Amino acid sequence: MDTLLKIHNKLEFLHPLHGFVEKGCSLSPSKPHNQEFRFGPKKPHLKLGKNGSLKARSSALLELVPETKKENLDFELPLYDPSKGLVVDLAVVGGGPAGLAVAQQVSEAGLSVCSIDPSPKLIWPNNYGVWVDEFEAMDLLDCLDTTWSGAVVFVDDHSTKNLDRPYGRVNRRQLKSKMMQKCILNGVKFHQAKVIKVIHEESKSLLICNDGVTVQAAVVLDATGFSRCLVQYDKPYNPGYQVAYGILAEVEEHPFDVNKMVFMDWRDSHLNNNMELKERNSKIPTFLYAMPFSSKQIFLEETSLVARPGLPMEHIQERMVARLRHLGIKVKSIEEDERCVIPMGGPLPVLPQRVVGIGGTAGMVHPSTGYMVARTLAAAPIVADSIVRYLGSETSLSGNNLSAEVWRNLWPIERRRQREFFCFGMDILLKLDLQGTRRFFDAFFDLEPHYWHGFLSSRLFLPELIFFGLSLFSHASNTSRIEIMAKGTPPLLRMINNLVQDRE
Ligand SMILES: Cc1cc2nc3c(=O)[nH]c(=O)nc-3n(C[C@H](O)[C@H](O)[C@H](O)COP(=O)(O)OP(=O)(O)OC[C@H]3O[C@@H](n4cnc5c(N)ncnc54)[C@H](O)[C@@H]3O)c2cc1C
Repeated sequence: MDTLLKIHNKLEFLHPLHGFVEKGCSLSPSKPHNQEFRFGPKKPHLKLGKNGSLKARSSALLELVPETKKENLDFELPLYDPSKGLVVDLAVVGGGPAGLAVAQQVSEAGLSVCSIDPSPKLIWPNNYGVWVDEFEAMDLLDCLDTTWSGAVVFVDDHSTKNLDRPYGRVNRRQLKSKMMQKCILNGVKFHQAKVIKVIHEESKSLLICNDGVTVQAAVVLDATGFSRCLVQYDKPYNPGYQVAYGILAEVEEHPFDVNKMVFMDWRDSHLNNNMELKERNSKIPTFLYAMPFSSKQIFLEETSLVARPGLPMEHIQERMVARLRHLGIKVKSIEEDERCVIPMGGPLPVLPQRVVGIGGTAGMVHPSTGYMVARTLAAAPIVADSIVRYLGSETSLSGNNLSAEVWRNLWPIERRRQREFFCFGMDILLKLDLQGTRRFFDAFFDLEPHYWHGFLSSRLFLPELIFFGLSLFSHASNTSRIEIMAKGTPPLLRMINNLVQDRE
C-alpha cells in the first residue's frame, strides 16, 4: 500500500483525529502526519517485548513497515493538448475508481473527455473489499484477486456468526488497467496536474491547474474523493470518522480459517492485561477486519467503525499490537500498510450546483459502514448517461441546467431518504459502547439475509428500511431494545424531521 500517497490523498485535507476538515484544492505541501511511520529499517522478525510499553511495541511493529513504493501502470497515455484551446465535453477531476468509471462511460458514447489527476498512472493505494455479488452484478468478477466463500463475525468470546455471503478483495491493478484501457480506446485525453480553481461561464467552465494549464469543459465532474475539491457544501461539515490501520503481513502463523474472511472480530480478551486500554476500548470499541490469503499471508486491519471525533491512529495501532500478540500472530514482515480515514455521514453537498460530483466528493460513502466502491461504480452509469443524454440531445442543456439534471438523477428523493436512514444508523452506532455494539451486531446478523445484505449494499429503500428497522428491533434482546429506544429516539426524531423537510 502506498502509504505516502494515501496520506497525501486523505490527510492533506482531513484532520480526523481532531475532528475537523480543511477545504481541499490546496497547493500547500502535505503535512508531515506520517513522518514518524514512514521510514523504518526492515527487520527480519518482530518480537514483542513482554515488559515494553504498548507504545514501544507499536513502534516495533511500525518499524517493519516498508518504505513507500509507488507502483505505476505501464501505459502510454494520450495527453491533453492545451495549445489547441478546445472545449471538451467533460472534464473529470480525479482519477480514482469514481472518476475513471464515468470518464470511461461518457467517452464510450463518443463525447470528448479529459481526465485530470496528479498521478494518472499510479495504482490506487487502498485495499478494497467488496461483497462478491456486488461485483458480479456489474460483470467485474475478473477484477477480484481473492474471494472467500463466506465471512465470520466474532461477537465476543462465546458467540460467532458465520455469514454465508462470499467476499472478495479488489484487484486494484486489474480494475484500474481495465478502465484505463477502455478510456484510451475511447479517446480520453489525460492531463497530469492538480486542479486548483474553477471559473464558470454560461456554457463552459475553465479549470485552472497547478501547472498553469487551463482545461475548458462543458461539464465538470469533481471525483476528488474525500478532498471535496470543487463541490460546494453549505451546511456545517460534521461527519463521523472511520479510522483504521491495516497491514498486509507475512506471519509465522495465524489462527483464522483461510476460507473465510473476518468481517468483524469484537473480542476484547487481548486487553485483559491492560485495564486502561480495555476501559477505552469498552467506550469506543475497535474490531479486527482480516483477509487471510494463506496460512502465512494475511491482511489485518484494526478498525474504529465510526466515532466523532475520529479515534487517534496511535490508539488503534496500540490495540492492534495487543490483539496480534494475544492471537499469537508473529509478524515476520509487512508488505504494505494503510491508514484509513473515511468521513461518514454529514450533510450532502449543495443540490444542485454547477460542478457535478461522484464518489467521496458527493456524499456517497455508506454512512453506517464506510463502504463505497461498489455503490459508486454502480452509480457511474447514472451520471454518465445523464451527461450524455443532456449534452447530446436535440434539446441539449448546458451550464447550470445540465448539472441540475445530473444531480437530480444521482440523488433522487429515494436515495436521499435512504441516506437519511443510514445516517440514523450511524447516529445510533456513535452512541453505542462495546457491549451495545455487540448486542447490535448480534441482532443485525440474525436478520434474514435479504435485510442485512440489502442494508450493507444500499439496496433497501425507505418502505423496506422501515421493515428492516422493525425486524432488527424484534430480533434484539430486551436490553438492546431499551438501549435502542433510549439512545435512538433523538436521532429518530431528527431523521423524521429531515425526511419531512426534504421534498422533491
Ligand atoms: C484506506 C481506505 C480503504 C478503503 N477501503 C474500502 C473498502 O474496502 N471498500 C469500500 O467500498 N470502500 C473503501 N474505502 C472507501 C472508498 O471506497 C475509497 O475512498 C475510494 O477510493 C473512493 O473513490 P473516489 O474515486 O471517490 O476517490 P479516490 O479514490 O480518493 O480518488 C480521488 C482522486 O482524485 C485525485 N485528486 C485529489 N485532488 C485533486 C485535484 N485537486 N486535482 C486533480 N485530482 C485530484 C487524487 O489524486 C485521487 O487520484 C476505503 C477508503 C480508504 C481511505
